[in-house]
Amino acid sequence: MPTKTGSPFQTIPRNQIYCCICGGPFLEPSARDDESKDWLTRAVVLTTGHTTPDDATIKLDTFRSHPSVPFPELHPEHAQRRVLQFPAAYDERNGFPVVASGENAVAMDISMAGGHLYFPVHQLCYHLAQRFMDSQPVSRDTFQTQPGEEISSVKQLWEVLLHRMPSSRSQYILPEPHDYYGGAGCRNVYWEPDDGEPEYGELLEAAPMGMASITEDILKNLQPEAPEKPKAEIGINEEETVGYGQDWWCEALANKKPLPWLWDLDGELVREKKRNGGPWDWELLMRKLSRPEIHEPSDTTLNLPVGLRNRRRIWRCLEEARVGDTVS
Ligand SMILES: [Zn+2]
Repeated sequence: MPTKTGSPFQTIPRNQIYCCICGGPFLEPSARDDESKDWLTRAVVLTTGHTTPDDATIKLDTFRSHPSVPFPELHPEHAQRRVLQFPAAYDERNGFPVVASGENAVAMDISMAGGHLYFPVHQLCYHLAQRFMDSQPVSRDTFQTQPGEEISSVKQLWEVLLHRMPSSRSQYILPEPHDYYGGAGCRNVYWEPDDGEPEYGELLEAAPMGMASITEDILKNLQPEAPEKPKAEIGINEEETVGYGQDWWCEALANKKPLPWLWDLDGELVREKKRNGGPWDWELLMRKLSRPEIHEPSDTTLNLPVGLRNRRRIWRCLEEARVGDTVS
C-alpha cells in the first residue's frame, strides 16, 4: 500500500532516521554489531487511513504542508479514520520497506502537493507505547485530546507525533520537548554512539524489553530496614510515610500497580523474598523506583541494567507526551 511520495524535499540529505518515540537510531541489519541490537533494525511505520463508503476498502490519508499551518494538514478530512501500522525494515537509503508488501515508506516527508505521511518507530517502542496506553485508567479512542491529557490510544499518539512534525521540510528526527532525555550528542548526520556522549549511546542502543532477570535485578537494590537511617537523602518526606508499613510497600511492588513500566516483574518472587529474609526496607526501594529520573546514566540511586534504564526513559517520554508540546 505505501508508495514513494515524490516529494521535492527528497533532495535534503538524510543519512539517518531516528525513532519517533525513543529518539534512538534505526540500524540496517548489516550494520548492527551483535544480536542485542537487532531490535534497532525492526520498525513499524504509522500512518492513517479511512474506509471508502463505496467499496469499504481502506485508503491511506493524504497530508500536505502549508505555510500557514505549523504541522502537516490532513486533506481532505475523512470520517472513519484510523491509525494503520505496517511492520517494516530499514535500508541504507533511509527507506522503510514494508514487510508485507515490499513497498517503500518514505518517513517524515511531506510536500505542498500532498502525499502519505509515515512516522517510523521501533517495533519494541511501539509495544512499549501500547503497554503505556493500556496502563491508563481510561482509554479514549479518539484523535481529540483535552489540554494536558496523557495519551491513552494510538490515535492520540498519532496526534502527538503529527503536531511535532514541522510542515516546512522533511525530518530525520521529530522534535521532542525534552530532546528524548539524552543522546543528542550521538544523533549526528549518522548515528555515532561513541561520539561525545558514549553513556547515552549505550543507553539508547539497549533493548528496553526481553530482559531475563528483571525481578532479580530490581531486588538486588533491596536494603535491610534501618529506621535510624535518614530517608531525606533521596527526598522522602517522613510525614508522607505515616500509615504505610513495610508490608504495604512490598505488596505495592509485587502487584506493580504504582509502577506500570515494570509490568513483567515477578510478584511472586518479590513476596518470596519478603518471606525468606529481612526485614527489608521495601519503602526505600519503592521510593527510589518511583523517581522519574532513574534512567539517567549519571543517576546512582539504583543499580539497574541499562535496558531497564532505557525502558524508563522511553516510558517517561510517553508519560510526558502531549499534543502540541513542541509548539512554543
Ligand atoms: Zn524507538
